Amino acid sequence: MKELVVISGKGGTGKTSVVASLAALADKAVLADCDVDAADLHLVLAPTIRRRENFTGGSRARIKSGHCVACGKCEEVCRFRAIFYDGPGNGRVDRTFRVDPIACEGCGLCAHFCTYDAIEFAPVVNGRWFVSQTRFGPMVHARLGVAEENSGKLVSLVRAEAKRIAEDRKLELVLIDGPPGIGCPVIASIAGSDFVLIVTEPTLSGLHDLRRVAELAEHFGIPACVCVNKADLNEEVAGEIEADAASRGLSVTGRIRYDPAVTHAQIRMKSVVEYADEGAAADIRRLWDDLSAMLGKQEP
Ligand code: SF4
Ligand code: SF4
Repeated sequence: MKELVVISGKGGTGKTSVVASLAALADKAVLADCDVDAADLHLVLAPTIRRRENFTGGSRARIKSGHCVACGKCEEVCRFRAIFYDGPGNGRVDRTFRVDPIACEGCGLCAHFCTYDAIEFAPVVNGRWFVSQTRFGPMVHARLGVAEENSGKLVSLVRAEAKRIAEDRKLELVLIDGPPGIGCPVIASIAGSDFVLIVTEPTLSGLHDLRRVAELAEHFGIPACVCVNKADLNEEVAGEIEADAASRGLSVTGRIRYDPAVTHAQIRMKSVVEYADEGAAADIRRLWDDLSAMLGKQEP
């Protein structure tokens, strides 16, 4: 079983559209949407949810107003300015302290320093994750709560569950839609995977972001290849990106042309390879053939 992760240095490169088409073309794959901060693969794949689970990614402080003596120690030690002196009185003091749950980063320092046992520090539900069925196979996806963090931990959970399903059902591929950027969720998506496909766009920011994700893949020693999406919008920069990728020892796959059929397919909740045979659909078919060949050449 292989894990293929599709990433991009930034959002808006068309990565998820490419993943949806690869999902349609792959046989025997489990899909994992690891873009948990802005999951959107489900919009095209219309999954039927079979299992729902809460995600508990961290803890948060809460002051028990009945126990607080308003000494102010917790406010003093909180580096995140999450503690305020405007909680309710309790018969001993007119006002107590209170934690703003949005500002609290869950470090636990206040609970450690409160000598009155007035701070509860308990795990909180940060989001939900799902196991679903799609027309292309099983899919694991998630939704992080508003203003919640720990998305790296949730990504690891989604990936582990997708891998478990693949092993249980003897499926040969886990196809991962990774998050944009180079932060913790991206690291959680690619670390230990078998192959990375970097989807980029022919702009200067695309070139800059490609360099960052390429360095990340290189750091983790994961073979990677680059595909320029909407390449014909700027042939010159597309060429620069491919030359830059090649100079780093990355494989360069065929380009995907700009094609309004991609948007038309999305509107109909389809991948472009289901919607059309020519244009971008044909390019992505060629891309899939290239990827299959590259994955096939790897050691099992
Ligand atoms: S350290 Fe404890 S007792 Fe002191 S203000 Fe904070 S919660 Fe209240
Ligand atoms: S857990 Fe950390 S961030 Fe949250 S209120 Fe306490 S000291 Fe501040």
